[in-house]
Amino acid sequence: MSIEYNHVRVHIDVDAVVHNYRLLSGQGTCVAPVIKSDAYGHGLPEVACALHQAGAQIMAAGTVGEAVRLKKCVPQLEVFSLLGPLSPAEYRAIGEHDIVPFVSSFEQLLDLEHQGRRSGVPVQVALKFDTGMSRLGFDVDQAVAVASSLDGLEHVRAAWVCSHLATADDPDQAGFVREQHERFVAVLKTLRSRGFGVRASLVNSAGLLAYPDLHHDLQRPGIALYGASPYAGTAWAAKGKGLRPCMEVCTSLLQVRAIRAGQSVSYGRTFTATKPMRIGIVGIGYADNYSRGLSGQGYMLVQGQRVPVLGRVCMQMTAVDVSAVPRACAGDEVVVLGRQGHASISVEDLAQWWGTISYEVFCVLGQNPRVYSRREESGMFMEQPEG
Ligand SMILES: *Cc1c(COP(=O)(O)O)cnc(C)c1O
Repeated sequence: MSIEYNHVRVHIDVDAVVHNYRLLSGQGTCVAPVIKSDAYGHGLPEVACALHQAGAQIMAAGTVGEAVRLKKCVPQLEVFSLLGPLSPAEYRAIGEHDIVPFVSSFEQLLDLEHQGRRSGVPVQVALKFDTGMSRLGFDVDQAVAVASSLDGLEHVRAAWVCSHLATADDPDQAGFVREQHERFVAVLKTLRSRGFGVRASLVNSAGLLAYPDLHHDLQRPGIALYGASPYAGTAWAAKGKGLRPCMEVCTSLLQVRAIRAGQSVSYGRTFTATKPMRIGIVGIGYADNYSRGLSGQGYMLVQGQRVPVLGRVCMQMTAVDVSAVPRACAGDEVVVLGRQGHASISVEDLAQWWGTISYEVFCVLGQNPRVYSRREESGMFMEQPEG
């Protein structure tokens, strides 16, 4: 969270995250929540604590710094850093906080060996292999060399072998998922035949939901935990059944006013009224991560009705057409993501108008001030601003 002064409030339903975790745990063997990027904008401490209480023992953060933050919230967790170490400070932090880094190069293995020797504590690593993303990872054909390198290290223990799927959310590209899996299995065979007792992890949310035979020892869902199905809008949409949205974003109407036919709205005059209208000025703009790309695109909710965005999104304001909502007035709640009355805007709706994916919507809107709700064991409904 980093945007402080605005009217935007991001409501996080922690119970829904826990519900999704339980749903996914019912399908996997061992589910490690991915809480990188501040839990996809939902808030790392709140999400991590709730999921730990719900039984999660292993989680994956992004940077080493984020992994340290996670470890401080829940010291009992086994914590991955998906990005792995880069700076000397990060190598030290891995030793001090017992983080399990994803490792993608021989240099990292050697630097971790030095770290382990200095601190006297062996470093557990997750070997990351690139099986088809061309992003981080050793090449598949380096598996033998990695094994030999590890044989020469005393203070580094290979605990995991991991890779990441590029197309698991696209039913039409299932063939490539299988190709990646074959490469992954070849790497595993090589390392295990050399005597390394490594555990294996390949799948993300989409892989967890649709490829039970690729689950191996650990599954790493992110987006599905936060209630967005990776299969929304595809032939496999049913596989995301039962996931509950966890984030709602709302703000306020600052003013409602009448405009005449011929009057234009906002910068650049990209919208001109062809008849008399009532417009609402909404307290959200691109400085609140409501993208300027939404100019003239999409809808918000006012008094339980969808109202279209008019003209350009400004820094802290956006105009909407409230002609069809005669009782709309300043101070009304405006929902940008979520439900209001019988109307709703799903993350997929918003992502489509925005020209992006659910992941980006969550990560960036989640940087606004957050409010958490959680139904405690007592049945009391708690709602409190983030401390
Ligand atoms: C982000 C990430 C995940 C989670 O992916 P989702 O599609 O959100 O489930 C899993 N593994 C790695 C390496 C990641 O970077």
